Amino acid sequence: MALRRGPVVRDPYWGAGALPWWKGQLHTHTARSFDGDPNVPPVRRSALYQAAEYDFLVFTDHDRVTVPSGDGLPAAGGAAGRPFLAMPGVESTDGSAHLGVWLLGDEASAAVVDPPIVPSARPPAERIESWAAAGALVCCNHPNHVSAPLTPEQLESWAGAGVPFRFVEVFNTLANRSPEALAHNLEVWRRAITAAGPEQPVWATATDDSHRADVGNSWITVAAPALTPAALRQALLAGRFYASSGVQFSFVGADLEANGILASAPGATTIRFVGDVGAPRHQVEGDTAHYHPQPGDRWIRVEASDAAGRTAWSQPFWIDA
Ligand SMILES: [Zn+2]
Ligand SMILES: [Zn+2]
Repeated sequence: MALRRGPVVRDPYWGAGALPWWKGQLHTHTARSFDGDPNVPPVRRSALYQAAEYDFLVFTDHDRVTVPSGDGLPAAGGAAGRPFLAMPGVESTDGSAHLGVWLLGDEASAAVVDPPIVPSARPPAERIESWAAAGALVCCNHPNHVSAPLTPEQLESWAGAGVPFRFVEVFNTLANRSPEALAHNLEVWRRAITAAGPEQPVWATATDDSHRADVGNSWITVAAPALTPAALRQALLAGRFYASSGVQFSFVGADLEANGILASAPGATTIRFVGDVGAPRHQVEGDTAHYHPQPGDRWIRVEASDAAGRTAWSQPFWIDA
């Protein structure tokens, strides 16, 4: 949308105010993972998230496609009395990269088979290409994790070459143990966003990566017209969601009245507008702030943090100067 004066902002949240928002978990393990909890089979994992007031999850067991059928799918009304959607996926696991592979919608239905159709021993860029060609949405998981580190240079080079990963996990409850871990992941994401460009944007996720019975520290919130795999797939590809380790936006998007990007996050104490150069372009102490893009801004994203450091990360808004 065009602001009153100045640049055109590509707002991934345009129109989201009229849609329902769904809370989801894109990275979680069950007893089917080699290091999973034998007491958490798929049906219990779904029930745990349902009880924590999530609306959906994607199963991402290590190198096993877990399908929410039979013992894996709670009743639609569920124990918590609300609709819940569990969807198939896998974590393609190798020291060269852990990849989140989400098998959402008809496009990916042929890949919903176990064992996975793409071997994890193949080089990561090849795995991403093959999974994407099979209709999967692919995420570069926990870049900071010592067991499978990913560098800014790696993702920049993949994104520049058109390798079709569309998501980077900037926050992972299990793997993010320090400010340095988060800083690394944000730098990986920054380089990927810029190299991939506005036509193939790279969006951020936050996940629990729970292997035990603990859930509910991190999530994404997605604006989609319905709680279906097809609608969620479309919203994820459009970036109509944000990532959170505990803070919620009540509004984030381009705003004509504010003549810029407006963000409001109840409970937040700091809002930062971070640019493609990596440093904040504008920072406000409070729970509401706006920013008018300045000459030279290629893209801007918004972070809202509370006093405990919990954060919501918006997706990037590309600026057409
Ligand atoms: Zn992993
Ligand atoms: Zn994992």
